[in-house]
Amino acid sequence: MFYVRCTELIPCPCCGSDLKKVIGSRKRQYLTTSGDTKILIIRRLRCSNCSRIHHELPDLLVPYKRYASAEIEQVLTGTQSPPVLAADDATLYRLKKWFNIQFPYLIGCLRSIAMRLDQEEVKEPSVLTRSVHQRIGLYVGSKPGWLARIVRPVVNANLWVHTRSAFLSALPLS
Ligand SMILES: [Zn+2]
Repeated sequence: MFYVRCTELIPCPCCGSDLKKVIGSRKRQYLTTSGDTKILIIRRLRCSNCSRIHHELPDLLVPYKRYASAEIEQVLTGTQSPPVLAADDATLYRLKKWFNIQFPYLIGCLRSIAMRLDQEEVKEPSVLTRSVHQRIGLYVGSKPGWLARIVRPVVNANLWVHTRSAFLSALPLS
């Protein structure tokens, strides 16, 4: 078991103030490639400005997913053969389907976050001829960790949506 401590201050997803006040913690489980269960302690933080409560999301997790971000990323990239994830075909299929459905939305989120932050807009001249992975490369780079680089800003901007099936696949908290 280990504790999550983000080194940088996390902005409140609702109002953008710094989340400084720690008011507790909770456990979050995730599965490793070999099928072991690991437990993280995640801090519960209260915004001193708008009083809403948020949970720190470590880079290695994806909200409501039972596998770690890096492992989901490997499934989505499909570079590891055989797959590193000790999961059945149906689970792998569901992960891919989840991502393909979410992808246009996530790209939309990244574009709107970039606009809010006054970053230069990513130009996509020929969307139709590009693969999903080429498009990811344009936004967050294609080096390992791309899924975390997509997930974190979207969560921090309070734009993350969880589908019913994704929610049901989350492990119960112990
Ligand atoms: Zn706030």
